[in-house]
Amino acid sequence: MYTNLSYLDEVKFCPHCKEELSCCEAPPIHIGDGLGWGSEILFICLNDSCSVFLKGWDQIEAQYGHHSSYRYMELPDSKEKNYMMVGNVDAFKACVINKDDLRAQNKEYQKIKLAKEELKTCVAEKNIEPVLVLLLSEGAGKKAREEAASYIAAINNFDCIDPLRNHKFRDPALEHWVNKGIKLMLKNNFKKECPYCFEVIKTQAVKCMHCKEDLS
Ligand SMILES: [Zn+2]
Ligand SMILES: [Zn+2]
Repeated sequence: MYTNLSYLDEVKFCPHCKEELSCCEAPPIHIGDGLGWGSEILFICLNDSCSVFLKGWDQIEAQYGHHSSYRYMELPDSKEKNYMMVGNVDAFKACVINKDDLRAQNKEYQKIKLAKEELKTCVAEKNIEPVLVLLLSEGAGKKAREEAASYIAAINNFDCIDPLRNHKFRDPALEHWVNKGIKLMLKNNFKKECPYCFEVIKTQAVKCMHCKEDLS
């Protein structure tokens, strides 16, 4: 299970041969330096006629004296150019991910896709569901989740507070936008959260009706 699914919508091309890069599962350890690439997915040019790959054999032979070549590579969500050493023509070809299959069978991806679609009308329809799905799915992608957070106050449904409060956000910036959305929604309704028990109470309350703490 991949933590971030936005790579399924990414299409990248090799700057050398213009062929589409193949989406590959990264090996657990990067063979060259023993460090991982920090990504479960690598986009690699597996075109055997690519100039990088064709010229690589001679370059590495001349420089290091062994039989290897290079493949062009990019990480998801990055334009940085990388060249990875491969020992033979078939390296990484068994790791190619069929994105269409994965998209179709991945329930999480389908759920996120539907939520992104519903996000367009969620404010007009006062539908908190897609907002919650996106905010609670760490794999949904930053842009969609930030957009979802911006609709919390406008949809004005208190049911989202508990699940959002119970979610452990990996992105502190997003958590900040969620907090802002909840606070604004409460303020619009003359409500606030008790600083002691986090139950929703009236803005002007001097004593929490839930935990009985003195708020004055
Ligand atoms: Zn290429
Ligand atoms: Zn309280």
